Amino acid sequence: MTELERTHDRAPVPASWDYAPAPEARDLVQLRERYGHFVGGEWLEPRETYTTIDPSSEEPLAEVGQATSEEVDLAVGAARDAFENGWSGLAPAERAKYLYRIARILQERSREFAVLESLNGGKPIRESRDVDLPLSAAHFFYYAGWADKLEYAFPNRKPRPVGVAGQIVPWNFPLLMLSWKIAPALATGNTVVLKPAETTPLSALLFADVLRQAELPPGVVNILTGDGRTGGALVKHPGVDKIAFTGSTEVGKSIQRELAGTGKRLTLELGGKAANIIFDDAALDQAVEGIVNGIYFNQGHVCCAGSRLLVQESIYEPLIGKLKRRLTTLRVGDPLDKNTDVGAINSQQQLDKIKELVASGEEEGAEIYQPPCRLPEKGYWFAPTVFTNVAQSYRIAQEEIFGPVLSVLTFRTPDEAVEKANNTPFGLSAGVWTEKGSRILAMAQQLRAGVIWANTFNRFDPASPFGGYKESGFGREGGRHGLEPYLDFE
Ligand code: NDP
Repeated sequence: MTELERTHDRAPVPASWDYAPAPEARDLVQLRERYGHFVGGEWLEPRETYTTIDPSSEEPLAEVGQATSEEVDLAVGAARDAFENGWSGLAPAERAKYLYRIARILQERSREFAVLESLNGGKPIRESRDVDLPLSAAHFFYYAGWADKLEYAFPNRKPRPVGVAGQIVPWNFPLLMLSWKIAPALATGNTVVLKPAETTPLSALLFADVLRQAELPPGVVNILTGDGRTGGALVKHPGVDKIAFTGSTEVGKSIQRELAGTGKRLTLELGGKAANIIFDDAALDQAVEGIVNGIYFNQGHVCCAGSRLLVQESIYEPLIGKLKRRLTTLRVGDPLDKNTDVGAINSQQQLDKIKELVASGEEEGAEIYQPPCRLPEKGYWFAPTVFTNVAQSYRIAQEEIFGPVLSVLTFRTPDEAVEKANNTPFGLSAGVWTEKGSRILAMAQQLRAGVIWANTFNRFDPASPFGGYKESGFGREGGRHGLEPYLDFE
């Protein structure tokens, strides 16, 4: 018998060349058919329900509750009870332990959460796995560290919790926005009623299971699903002491009007139309990567997306050439494929909005470029798009598209770049690409934006405060600043 014949059974050559299951396979997520509301540590049977879907296939995923004002009332009552009877009086170091536990559990279950986030929201698994999940856990770790140091964060000001926080989050980063809101609220001794967006409720509902695992006392965090009516009822509820909202400028303004004169605390993180400014001395290949990351990350469903590209005239031709070539390499498709760069648009409604604004860009006279790519037949999809020949007055240069659509403008001098960048009702973020450190600092001083990235874009860290100016809202999330909205001072 030859050596080969003897070892045949144990030969390292696989008999079949099928792919092994991916570590982020769909069956990591066990969905229930129907979910209730998480109130006072229990699942409450919903009075009304709706179906939540996978936007990449339009397949139904589960039935979830549409919370009515009576259910909002129950959740606020549970949060008040938990606030007064334990949580606000708990030793801060004990509160921190719960936050650490939540962070650890999120890390342990990160693959499950990443798959669910991509399934319900349409974002590429590469992003939910490498961005949403690590950052969500990092926020809980970070604020766990602050819980017993509030007296040092605000010396001589005797900080105390505000009470019951009503938190309303959007669909673009469902779990991450939940973490941005819940972590500082709990670290400072508040209790929470959270409403995820109508189209992406599932990761918040799975998060309720993390709270159970962490043995968080009942009522400290309550989760109600539903559409804008649920959000409206939460905003109006007299038992809520503070509202934290992330979403559209329009809804943000209506909430501000509603709360005027009520004494309720409010923070708003709203839309954006960020300028990503490329000077002629920038490293062009790196800038192209930054531009792509700035606008095509998460299908452009990013409030701080670099949706207006400002290019210095002398490098316009080579930069746009490189950018268009790079676009041809982007893979659009199945969010659960780890090679996908651009996933599905979150909903039919959002797809309609993108299409309407893109049509307006063409009508107003801008030149459209889309790389050749085949879009899946089912689900909501939009090809990565670049508009050149854009005037500042065009709607695609003024309004938030919230999709994979970039509008390119040019400038000659730094002053012109500042003027154009600031010519927007928003003021959330901006990017500056140049080799000169002094120019970065000079630009940062003049740009009216809450976050300014230099030679990078869309970088986040829990220690760094995030928030806007003008119609992008007010209040900061992240860092020591992110504690303040949840505290009263003597
Ligand atoms: P919304 O502002 O409507 O949604 C944000 C959150 O607020 C959701 O949970 C939503 O619930 C809730 N909500 C809606 N109406 C009310 C209300 N009257 N009172 C209290 N809460 C309410 O954003 P959309 O999802 O409608 O998106 C529209 C546009 O907003 C997008 O095209 C984009 O331009 C922008 N946007 C900006 C975001 C950002 O981070 N800056 C995030 C999301 C959207 P429900 O999901 O049920 O409507």
